[in-house]
Amino acid sequence: MALGWVGLVQVAAALAPPALAPPALAPPPLVVRVDEERRPVPAMVRADGVRTVSLAALARALDGEVTVPAGAGAPWRLRVDSLWIAILPGDRRVVAGLDTMPLPVAASRAGDTLVVAEALATEVLPALGAGVVYDQGARELLRVAVRPVAAASSPPSRTPSSAEVRRRVVVVDPGHGGRDAGMVGMRVNGRTLLEKQVTLAVARAVRSALQARGVEVVLTRDTDTLVSLADRGGMATRAAGGLFLSLHVNAASPEWTSPGAVRGYETYVLAEARTEAQRRVEALENAVTRFEEGGADGDPLAFIIRDLERNAHLRASVELATLVQDGLRGVHPGPGRGIQQAGFRVLRGASMPAVLVELGYGSHPGDAAFLADPVHQRALAVALAEAAVQFLDRMAVAAQPSTRPTPSPAGPPPAAPLGSPP
Ligand SMILES: [Zn+2]
Repeated sequence: MALGWVGLVQVAAALAPPALAPPALAPPPLVVRVDEERRPVPAMVRADGVRTVSLAALARALDGEVTVPAGAGAPWRLRVDSLWIAILPGDRRVVAGLDTMPLPVAASRAGDTLVVAEALATEVLPALGAGVVYDQGARELLRVAVRPVAAASSPPSRTPSSAEVRRRVVVVDPGHGGRDAGMVGMRVNGRTLLEKQVTLAVARAVRSALQARGVEVVLTRDTDTLVSLADRGGMATRAAGGLFLSLHVNAASPEWTSPGAVRGYETYVLAEARTEAQRRVEALENAVTRFEEGGADGDPLAFIIRDLERNAHLRASVELATLVQDGLRGVHPGPGRGIQQAGFRVLRGASMPAVLVELGYGSHPGDAAFLADPVHQRALAVALAEAAVQFLDRMAVAAQPSTRPTPSPAGPPPAAPLGSPP
């Protein structure tokens, strides 16, 4: 979808005085979108075709800040929300926490600021969970930073397609099952925590919570069985659901500095995985195909289909992911690790807004105890159910602009969240 380009070129052509020779067109800016506001960040194109932007202009558009080092040879730092990224002039790598990520070209000094590859904004920041997602179709960087809960009743920033306004059906996908146990976690009360058991228990509780709110639920599995990733997405599509929620449990890599200390919850939308950490999670969650028949992904057209699919519901999926992260904050003992993008097969098959939720780290004693406890599983489920209902309500409101936002007519108003936000 190149409409953004076409629109820009047409506007530029319309504004140019007809008598003058056409000026060299400036490259289209990188656009940071904050709700309805579009904030252009001027872009430059190098001789080798790599797009660059000013670090200062990028930081301004993202409401972030840049820390200029006192001495030469020290890194510059970009802060976006609570994430700090170190950038060294002349170096093609940037560092954020445990992640080192490559840029196509090294950052370079230019007056008071650094000129950096645009990929810092379109690839690195989304991959690091910096509260942004890049919509390749619209060429816009969407700000998805955690918003105050009070803002949750505002309608989405665009009108959903009719395909998104469906029956109030939620497809819940308990990750793994059968021969595929998924993540094998800590021992809790003498029993080893298995991802497939946590996801099934939480999914059943989500079903109860949603049914109590008048929402139909389809589970992709209701027993300890293995369902192929392709079938899970297919089931979701056949169910004509309004959204697809795939539930998983994460595990820290033993190679991390302090793997036992990593905990918290994160929500993924569909895109290519960019960081090592994301590739790891992607590989873990896609690994089930080794248990499946004919699971090879050798279709030469697959990447084209993937490219089309991953943008079709991106914005709505980001909206859903934001609600999920906001909801889990009220019940989860660990930190929110943000909205991230990765290329999960299970999301690829679902033609509806879809997210994959990592409910916590089974490798962390606190998270493992939380995930194993039926009461907390219910708390997680209620938070997920409320996020789903809010999402369906927003889609319904956006689809009927003449109606005022009202509580869901299909059930009682959502119960107060368990626990309270920090
Ligand atoms: Zn999993």
